[in-house]
Amino acid sequence: MPTLFTKIMRGDIPGDIVYQDRYCVAIKDIAPQAPVHLLIIPRTEISGVSAVEKTGDHQYLLNAARNIAEEMGIEGYRLVINQGEAAGQTVPHLHMHFLAGRDLSWPPG
Ligand code: AMP
Repeated sequence: MPTLFTKIMRGDIPGDIVYQDRYCVAIKDIAPQAPVHLLIIPRTEISGVSAVEKTGDHQYLLNAARNIAEEMGIEGYRLVINQGEAAGQTVPHLHMHFLAGRDLSWPPG
């Protein structure tokens, strides 16, 4: 059964895709928490950080974030990955939030 994000990436359900490369896709979050709120999602269905292989080249999510920031002319942004229910993960397909466009307080809630 494909995940919600795989369905969006395949075009089976609507989604606002703003970036794509060989490894991942970025979409606009449906409930944005900042003027810019994207989700960077690996094309491969990995359930979360805890399921990422311990070896290998996993910098593709960071490369995508940097590419998006350069393309959009954004200097400051926050990257967030929620792992597990306790951290607020609701979609079991690894994704990195890209937040920008307003001052972001610290620590996060
Ligand atoms: P998380 O809570 O870290 O798992 O993040 C899941 C994110 O997916 C939330 O910020 C939701 O607003 C977002 N989301 C859920 N459904 C959709 C959708 N159909 N299109 C875009 N974003 C979605």
